[in-house]
Amino acid sequence: MVREHTLLTDAALDAARMHGVRLVEGGATSLRPPADDVVQALPRKGGLPAPALSGLVRSAAGGDAPRANSRPVTGAPVTQIEGLPDHGGLHTKLLIGGEWRDAEGGQTVPTVDPATNRTIVEVAAAQPADVDRAVRAARDAFPVWRDMAPEKRSRILLRVAELIEAEHERLAKIESHDVGKPIREAALVDLPACWDPWRFYQGLVRVIDGRVLAMPTSSLDYVRKEPMGVVGMIIPWNFPLHIACRKGSAALAAGNTVVLKAPELAPLTCLELGRIALEAGLPPGVLNVVPGLGATAGAALAEHPGVDKIAFTGSTVTGRTVMRAGAGTIKRVSLELGGKSPSIVFADADLERAVIGSVFGIYLAQGEVCSAGSRVLVERPVYDEFVRRFADKAAGIRVGMPHRWSTQLGALINERQCQRVYEYVEIGKAEGATVVAGGVRPSDPELAGGNFIEPTIFAGTNDMRIAQEEIFGPVVVIVPFDGEDEAVRIANDVRYGLAAGIWTSDVGRAHRVAHRLEAGSIWVNQYGVYPSEAPFGGYKESGTGYDLGLESLSEYLETKNIHLNIGTDTLDWYGS
Ligand code: NAD
Repeated sequence: MVREHTLLTDAALDAARMHGVRLVEGGATSLRPPADDVVQALPRKGGLPAPALSGLVRSAAGGDAPRANSRPVTGAPVTQIEGLPDHGGLHTKLLIGGEWRDAEGGQTVPTVDPATNRTIVEVAAAQPADVDRAVRAARDAFPVWRDMAPEKRSRILLRVAELIEAEHERLAKIESHDVGKPIREAALVDLPACWDPWRFYQGLVRVIDGRVLAMPTSSLDYVRKEPMGVVGMIIPWNFPLHIACRKGSAALAAGNTVVLKAPELAPLTCLELGRIALEAGLPPGVLNVVPGLGATAGAALAEHPGVDKIAFTGSTVTGRTVMRAGAGTIKRVSLELGGKSPSIVFADADLERAVIGSVFGIYLAQGEVCSAGSRVLVERPVYDEFVRRFADKAAGIRVGMPHRWSTQLGALINERQCQRVYEYVEIGKAEGATVVAGGVRPSDPELAGGNFIEPTIFAGTNDMRIAQEEIFGPVVVIVPFDGEDEAVRIANDVRYGLAAGIWTSDVGRAHRVAHRLEAGSIWVNQYGVYPSEAPFGGYKESGTGYDLGLESLSEYLETKNIHLNIGTDTLDWYGS
């Protein structure tokens, strides 16, 4: 039975109807696969993240042609985009103090197309001297930005959102090309999640407040929130623009200035963000972008005494190094790290929805997602049926060249990462896990030069390395369990604690289990929802601190207490 359309957002359904796309209505079901004009499966409110998918997609057969350079409105339908970006227009230099400059000694690092392993372009690789320049530029710009009227600061951040939205097609193409992710994901999932945090935090600029404490009338005591100063941001390659936007918008809204260390494997959209920020009216030096190697540029930023806070997203291993580096000057450090998140399916769940959501949970972005549902725990009475249905669903995923709209699973970021994923396939086999599907290269000759792997499914147990270690690829382990207690025990039996999904028709159970899970984000009867309003952070070795939500704004604010003696008394301690 096909009920995929029930997972579309309301806005997506409206958009689809507006374009004359035929939908199978409401709760109706069909025994046939969806016809070509039925909008394809994507989870309600988002997958990754909530604002995404609001404008799904697809003009009616024979209908509108893609609108080149059209100015989208929030929530408006996105037309299909195909093709590679115009390489001639890409920014490749460091952005420091509002100026584009080469790295010290002319150092560059190639950024490579994961689908072909050919170099896209050489990008400047920041050296410690460049990072130092960027930090100084950010320090110089800090008073201007900090003291700017909130109304003005808010308007500039809103403009950033508008420009990202206006350029979303080009940005999606660049992201897809640089990261290897399908263009449909870049356009529908990543890009809305890039502009939305700017919209969210621009509003908050004007409501940052403190509080006045209850004191005798001779005193005025108040708590004030202040920006920290210079924030160093170090981010990974899997969602570069989205992560730069969600961190950057909060840090800038709070009144800080930023040095963004773009990921060496996919730096291009971070550089575009730097350009957009300047165009939006951000004063020079408020946002500096320094792509470069982790061990050089990243380490220099994490150690720099002029940096007040480090906001890091990446692997747990690097997170530890960054935390140690920040200790030298007692930097504030927030860490968004790895995960091995469970999608827990109880026997009373709507299995169709659980399959759809769990498949989405692992295969989005080739499984290169920190909160990927890389373990699916299934209650034993429905285990065999679930595995069969999961495999059927995964078999329909179209692996292909990322720039094609039809592609649903793209290329892994580089040869090394691809090799690592294949090694885990061998580890799983050696551990005695059953390969239900995948684990091999796609046969399509067009994909021979890139870092591709078929969606892979293991049936295994939670003690296996493939169920304990973050693989960061399209590999899932489906593990059986008996009853609620065992589900919770297995779910928590990893060193990570980023996210979890619960599939059940029992609202009491959903509550109970959600409370007992050691993870920062819990999704019930869905997987992978990241509204800008909701804090996203990890338990255990998945990190400390938050992105998004009000909580993230607090991550970029210091708390100051001010106590005024407004009476006439003076305590003369030494006077008698
Ligand atoms: P990574 O840790 O290798 O690199 C992340 C960033 O750190 C890169 O910009 C890199 O250049 C930099 N870096 C590397 N060594 C450094 C050092 N010594 N000092 C300072 N910076 C250094 O991670 P990755 O391979 O780019 O990304 C994948 C990892 O990121 C996965 O573990 C994934 O789970 C995690 N991730 C987490 C979240 C989250 O929100 N929790 C989101 C996305 C990715």
